[in-house]
Amino acid sequence: MATALKIVPPEARVTSFVSRKHKMLINGKWVDSASGKTFPTYNPATGEVMAQIAEGDREDINRAVTAARNAFENGPWRKLTASDRGRLIWKLGDLLEENLEEFAELESLDNGKPLTVARAADVPLAADLFRYMAGWTTKIEGNTIPISVPYTPGARYLAYTLREPVGVVGQIIPWNFPLLMAAWKLGPALATGNTVVLKPAEQTPLTALRLGELIQQAGFPDGVVNIVPGYGETAGAALAAHPDVDKIAFTGSTEVGKLILQAAAGNLKKVSLELGGKSPNIVFADVDLDTAIAGSASAIFFNHGQCCCAGSRLFVEKKVFDKVVDGVAERASQIKVGAGFDPNIDMGPLVSKEQLDRVCGYLESGFSEGAKAVAGGHRVGDRGYFVEPTVLVNTNPDMKVVQEEIFGPVVTAIPFEDASELVRQANDSEYGLAAGIWTRDIQKANRLAADLRAGTVWINCYNIFDAALPFGGYKQSGWGREMGHEVLEQYTEVKAVCSAM
Ligand code: ADP
Repeated sequence: MATALKIVPPEARVTSFVSRKHKMLINGKWVDSASGKTFPTYNPATGEVMAQIAEGDREDINRAVTAARNAFENGPWRKLTASDRGRLIWKLGDLLEENLEEFAELESLDNGKPLTVARAADVPLAADLFRYMAGWTTKIEGNTIPISVPYTPGARYLAYTLREPVGVVGQIIPWNFPLLMAAWKLGPALATGNTVVLKPAEQTPLTALRLGELIQQAGFPDGVVNIVPGYGETAGAALAAHPDVDKIAFTGSTEVGKLILQAAAGNLKKVSLELGGKSPNIVFADVDLDTAIAGSASAIFFNHGQCCCAGSRLFVEKKVFDKVVDGVAERASQIKVGAGFDPNIDMGPLVSKEQLDRVCGYLESGFSEGAKAVAGGHRVGDRGYFVEPTVLVNTNPDMKVVQEEIFGPVVTAIPFEDASELVRQANDSEYGLAAGIWTRDIQKANRLAADLRAGTVWINCYNIFDAALPFGGYKQSGWGREMGHEVLEQYTEVKAVCSAM
């Protein structure tokens, strides 16, 4: 499908969208912020201001929540049949696919990721997610339950459960996969009949805003989806704390996840969190090393390491440690770094100056504690936010670069010998999002998969995502799951109905 599209250069269509004064979507209308303020977004390849966006704050969140509440209680949305609701969501997936090239270009410009990646992964996965969730609308079922009730002998009851929408849902998303994260959040919330206030990340609001136009084009009733761009500390915090929001769904850092949880306590809104990671990627000596090397490089360097599930701790069986590390380092040094729109590059800039400083800060901390770079280790150039793909060795388990999430193209390589010690080390993290295992021994792989404390384990592959596969974290990597049928539980309440007969 993607290949059949005519490729239009960015100058034509995307730049005209980017240069607009961007408004927010509240109750089916594109409006300025209540304060009239805007904020800039930056092109990560140059550091220059790229777009001006209406800056949502508490007052805008209030307006959006009121619209979402009204759409939930009084609008046509709840009266739609499950089939019609599914049809709307499916149409949104179709529209996204029809506009695939435009979305890929916008995403590449805004986030910095290679256009080829946005085209092959971000946009098709988002369209597919909407279609997958569209299929669920007609399959959200309760149960009939035989009950015994010992204190009413002889009485008969019909008891059953209903799955109902939670209500008004606030959704706060990050900048690493801006469109895909919007889809992960909106798809299940809409499939289960909720109404939404979505706050995109301040660094990358463009594809969410364009998606808002497609939501209108698809024919969703006004107020069902409201999109309020703005900063986390203001718009995000107001949404998380809002007393009329029934549920908050968040993807981002563990640090902010804890703030969301505190803010949500005011009205005990439901909370789901998809947070950070420091995922172990484990290579055994018995595997085809070329495949494991390629897979391990991609596990960390895909999306510039800006993935919560990045394979950032590379554990390698000691007897092949040098070979694997040299192989990953060689691949790292071959990665062509440049602006996302350049068809010849493999890796774009990091998303922001803040992110550049953070990653460079971790590199300095690693070096000062004795780590060595066998590839990369530095910023690239002095314009834009580029960093070399980096492989660190000579680390120890206490170093910040081993314990903390860097969220950049930096992997720490660690040798292991003993299997039980490996499990202990791999699980020695406050996170538990994902893990990779590379081996030919399926028994060993399955045993290890069972022992690892992680929400996803990939065996002889990495970063394989599908709308049908649940994704989420153990430990401080989060609460609840995204995607699959598991996510539907995050967006529904169960009502038990008991009727005497
Ligand atoms: P990162 O550190 O990777 O930028 P964050 O967790 O800071 O990730 O941001 C993810 C999302 O959370 C963004 O949409 C951001 O605006 C939002 N956010 C940041 N701080 C807060 C906060 N205090 N309350 C609510 N949302 C926040």
